[in-house]
Amino acid sequence: MSECLFCRVVAGEIPADIGYHDDEFIAFRDIDPQAPVHILVIPREHHPTAAALAAADSDLAGRLVATATSIAEDAGVGGYRLVVNTGAEGGQTVPHVHVHILGGRNMTWPPG
Ligand code: 5GP
Ligand code: ZN
Repeated sequence: MSECLFCRVVAGEIPADIGYHDDEFIAFRDIDPQAPVHILVIPREHHPTAAALAAADSDLAGRLVATATSIAEDAGVGGYRLVVNTGAEGGQTVPHVHVHILGGRNMTWPPG
C-alpha cells in the first residue's frame, strides 16, 4: 500500500468525491474547501512537486494545466484561480503534485 495520500485516492483506497477522471488525471473536491468551488486535479502518476513533474515529463505537466483549465471552465464560475503550492514553505502539505481550482467568490487580492 502506498504511503502517499493522493496515490491512495488514485488507487481507490481513500474515498473522494471524484468529479472527473481520464487515463492520466483525476479531479476531486478538496476536503477542506477554501472557496465555494475548490477542486484538486492530480496526475495518476506520482510526482512529488510541479518542478519534479516538469523535469520528468513536461508534456504531462502541460496536459495537467490544460485539464485543470478545462475543468475550471466547466465549473460554472465567472473566474477562478489555479494554484500549485510547492514545498513546505510554499504551503504544500501533500507531496503528490496537485492543482487547486478555486472559485465561486471574489478571488481578487487583497480582498475588498
Ligand atoms: P496543499 O496544501 O498540499 O497545497 O494541498 C493539499 C490539499 O489536500 C489541502 O487543501 C487539503 O485540504 C486537501 N486534502 C488533504 N487530505 C485530503 C483528503 O483525504 N481528501 C481530500 N479530498 N482532500 C484532502
Ligand atoms: Zn502519490
